[in-house]
Amino acid sequence: MKILLTGGAGYIGSHTAVALVEAGFEPVVLDNFANSHPLVLERLADIVGQQIPLERGNVLDTPWLEDVLRRHQPAGVVHFAGDKAVGESVANPLKYFHNNIGGAVSLMRAMETVAAETPDASPTLVFSSSATVYGDPASVPITEDFPRSHTNPYGHTKLVIEDMLYALHAARPAWRVGVLRYFNPVGAHVSGLMGEDPAGIPNNLMPYVAQVAVGQRDHLNVFGNDYPTPDGTGVRDYIHVQDLADGHVAAIKRLLGGSTSFTVNLGAGRGHSVLELVSAFERASGRKVPYRIAPRRAGDVAQCWADPGLAQRLLGWRATRSLDDMCADTWRWQSGNPNGYRSS
Ligand code: NAD
Ligand code: UDP
Repeated sequence: MKILLTGGAGYIGSHTAVALVEAGFEPVVLDNFANSHPLVLERLADIVGQQIPLERGNVLDTPWLEDVLRRHQPAGVVHFAGDKAVGESVANPLKYFHNNIGGAVSLMRAMETVAAETPDASPTLVFSSSATVYGDPASVPITEDFPRSHTNPYGHTKLVIEDMLYALHAARPAWRVGVLRYFNPVGAHVSGLMGEDPAGIPNNLMPYVAQVAVGQRDHLNVFGNDYPTPDGTGVRDYIHVQDLADGHVAAIKRLLGGSTSFTVNLGAGRGHSVLELVSAFERASGRKVPYRIAPRRAGDVAQCWADPGLAQRLLGWRATRSLDDMCADTWRWQSGNPNGYRSS
């Protein structure tokens, strides 16, 4: 059974491709490599022992997408493709509205056109949403019924795409839509062959810490130590990317099993502070991670973690890997590939 992964060469998509093969599906990767490297396909083949088909192109190209859908007839589509840098979205909002919202519209239209050619089709779509849709949550843990808001154009695109999917599902009940709200994906494949490969200076904590540990940056700036949290630093729900990948498999299985639609949090359900993560990384790597306390980063919330209960009840899924696993796997990837995919 084929599953089309838009943005499948990216960080989360590539790990999901592995999990799908392990679960007996046939992933097809669609990507334009705007934020990924073709070498990912070689690494994927090394891990799963088979070549994963690649469709190289842009999700904004609706006729081409229709052609891809007709040729592969996937049972489901996971839509990862999009831009994800919060700061860039503030500086260049049109890029985000165009690629993220435009890409989602293009994909939905292509799926609708192709579905209309088959009687009784049930177009099946999983979407990569984010905990960013909860804005600054009034309390933790966060359940799916919390109010949504946005504080930057990237978050705005996630909210708009969720709403488009809900409207589409209301108009076309045959569609099966899974909205997955990821918390903080980190870690790498346990083989050390695949991981996160941010372009330029990392915005996120884990890749930054990893680059400090490997000696590419001399220290970490800890953005604020005066938050109302146990040690004053920001608390987040870090989730191992392989657990997240398994969550996609569970969501696909649930949708293909006849469930109509759902929106679930994919998080580990516990929070770790910046300083806890730094200590865990030092243990995993055996390296010092020097840090300095810096001012708070604009727009950051004090704490954010999921109630993952709905995902467990609905999908039978829960995260199993610990913060130590996340750090050990990140370190294996970072130390073996100090320049990411470009080092090979
Ligand atoms: P990523 O940048 O590694 O992967 C996205 C992939 O999409 C890249 O390979 C990129 O080349 C591709 N892409 C972008 N625009 C495209 C287009 N127009 N046509 C074809 N391919 C295109 O990002 P990721 O971390 O794997 O994130 C995947 C999805 O999950 C994104 O939608 C992101 O917003 C969402 N998400 C990520 C996080 C996170 O922290 N990584 C958290 C919440 C949600
Ligand atoms: N953070 C930090 N230094 C960095 C990057 C992040 O102190 O160089 C902190 C940030 O303030 C937050 C946590 O680490 O409390 C996680 O940040 P990240 O950007 O990874 O995730 P997000 O804030 O989007 O949840």
